[in-house]
Amino acid sequence: MPVLLVVGAGLFGSQAAAYARQKGIEVRVFDSGLPGAASPAAAGLFKEAWAGRKLQEHFRPAVAVLDRLYGILHVDLTHDDGTKEGFLFVPPTTILEPNPIRQVVTAVGDGWLEAGGQRHQGWVYVAAGVWSARFLPGLDVHGKAGTSFVFTGEQAGRIRNIAHGRQAIAFVRDPGCTHFSDGTAERDYKDEHERQSLERAAAMGLTAAPVRRLHGLRPYTKGGPIFQKIASRTWLATGGRKMGTILGAVFAQRLVDVEIENSD
Ligand SMILES: Cc1cc2nc3c(=O)[nH]c(=O)nc-3n(C[C@H](O)[C@H](O)[C@H](O)COP(=O)(O)OP(=O)(O)OC[C@H]3O[C@@H](n4cnc5c(N)ncnc54)[C@H](O)[C@@H]3O)c2cc1C
Repeated sequence: MPVLLVVGAGLFGSQAAAYARQKGIEVRVFDSGLPGAASPAAAGLFKEAWAGRKLQEHFRPAVAVLDRLYGILHVDLTHDDGTKEGFLFVPPTTILEPNPIRQVVTAVGDGWLEAGGQRHQGWVYVAAGVWSARFLPGLDVHGKAGTSFVFTGEQAGRIRNIAHGRQAIAFVRDPGCTHFSDGTAERDYKDEHERQSLERAAAMGLTAAPVRRLHGLRPYTKGGPIFQKIASRTWLATGGRKMGTILGAVFAQRLVDVEIENSD
């Protein structure tokens, strides 16, 4: 059986790798560790209401995939008026491939890729986030940047509405620390955006200096997320925007159960 060669160890590539391995497929994941990768910055939160009408039908199957592969966690975040809002989440630290092959993929073709001066044969899944256009000329993908911050200590989960469909959240994504994120998503990200995010964190009680800054480019594609067969044994998926956890799961299942299953 061919191996699955994955370009990118973000939420898209890592979930495809995990899904395929669970089906007994051998997988090799390549990631050169580009600064600005979106996934390490993600809070990993999701909820059905965020899915919108277009993604509604995919939400439950995606949750089932996430639960089977990683187990889904639940967190209640408290609004300023004391009401609580429940969210589901899977920390990206649980999903992301711990040891991808640290090589730049320089070319992909039908059933092959090149990295480290070597050609590898197999099924190919390009999950290269905002860098995906390198492998599909003409693909209209751009990044919207945002930064999340990690503070030491575990603070009770909080949420604050800052604009329509946008909230600042602080919660324990990973043990021993508090993850803060405020939905900033800018094509032209400036120091001012960062200053505003840190002010919002301080206003929610996170006044100490953060111990980590996670800056990521959310991939946006015109007309919504894309999953495309670009050759008989090569597929590409990106456009996870603010929903990379759920979309990564939907596309992982489609890649393995529909596309690879029916390929020659
Ligand atoms: C601050 C912030 C908060 C977010 N919060 C959430 C959230 O709560 N819930 C949610 O669902 N989503 C959230 N998101 C969105 C989510 O992070 C993205 O949708 C998702 O991470 C996109 O995943 P990806 O795998 O497509 O891209 P990426 O994570 O960018 O991964 C692409 C990878 O490909 C690698 N790569 C690219 N080109 C090459 C090459 N030629 N050779 C080798 N490797 C290569 C890069 O190094 C990179 O690691 C958030 C994003 C940000 C920035």
